Amino acid sequence: MIRTTELEQFTYFRGRVALFAILRALGVGPGDQVITQAFTCLAVPEAIMARGAQPVYADVEPAGFNMDASDLRRKLTARTRAVIIQHTYGIPADLDGLLAVVGQAGLPLIEDCCHTIASTYHGILVGRHGVAAFYSYEWGKPVVVGIGGSAVIHDPSLREAVRAQYGSFLYPGSWFHVRLRAQQLVHQLAYRPFLYYVARWLYHRLGSVGAAQSNYNPIDPGHAARDFSLRMAMPLQGRLHKQLAHVDELTRHSPDIAEAYAERIQSPVVAHVPVGEGRDVVYARYPLLAADKPRLLAAARRANVELAEWYTTPIHPVPASDWQRVGYEAGSCPQAEMRCRQVVTLPVHATVGSADVERTIQFFNECK
Ligand SMILES: *Cc1c(COP(=O)(O)O)cnc(C)c1O
Repeated sequence: MIRTTELEQFTYFRGRVALFAILRALGVGPGDQVITQAFTCLAVPEAIMARGAQPVYADVEPAGFNMDASDLRRKLTARTRAVIIQHTYGIPADLDGLLAVVGQAGLPLIEDCCHTIASTYHGILVGRHGVAAFYSYEWGKPVVVGIGGSAVIHDPSLREAVRAQYGSFLYPGSWFHVRLRAQQLVHQLAYRPFLYYVARWLYHRLGSVGAAQSNYNPIDPGHAARDFSLRMAMPLQGRLHKQLAHVDELTRHSPDIAEAYAERIQSPVVAHVPVGEGRDVVYARYPLLAADKPRLLAAARRANVELAEWYTTPIHPVPASDWQRVGYEAGSCPQAEMRCRQVVTLPVHATVGSADVERTIQFFNECK
């Protein structure tokens, strides 16, 4: 098996900038459509719109979190120029089905690997199935360097184009390092499950006074934010290479924790989600479908059990009042909208200890 880490990584300011660079090298621009899934984060349409192109949303599978191949087929038009698929929470998408549709249409497939670096589909790592893949290394992702992303390009002529354009991406200025330091401090707190709610509050406070790098740029179609002209800061590149050399260690604990959740959470208030055959999943977070999500979130908070709610909207965190600005039409992806009302996720990261796992399992099994 070839590890993604053995391949040439083009590093950028963020994951979305890596996607932007791939789209740019593909020649995607004004008048073009790029299909992505609903039940994603704003970073993805942000990159598409920064190219001046139009995001088009395909729904997710019934009871799943990844793109539905038959809905993808329905969303194709003469203006479709590329398809971005996502391996949500680390669960590999239906690659056979999606590759068949994309191949028939003669379009390039880009894999969004921001939630996983180590899951496999029929024995082959995700991120190795399309013309290119992109990764994010910000807080909350499987490999963390701070803020940053990378692209791995498999198509030789596309790789040439990405390489030729790479020189135009600049290093971020000194303001960036100050903000990064503030975020690092909060992150160190957040990665202790019992401090999750405290850290989350602090992070939002920092964001509101401008000390933390805001996660999203203002929605402004046709105008690319400055982020999209930047590459990864030099010290972070060094940190990334070190981390990727130990990627097995970084992801080793995840399957054990996920297995404990999968086997031992047996509660009427949540349902597990089957992942489909041929998939070996290294979760970023472990998802459950809640019968009553608001009630469960409130109970978890009272019990100080780390439970995240993303995604809460089909293009997270865009509220329904702004969906039109990101090209999403209400009701157009009913499965994605339903998943937003159901999903809660549990942590599987390295600092989740066995006591946290036991406490979490007990919380669910005593929940009524
Ligand atoms: C985090 C994330 C991104 C973008 O990452 P940034 O580094 O924040 O730009 C893209 N897609 C998905 C699914 C993500 O979770």
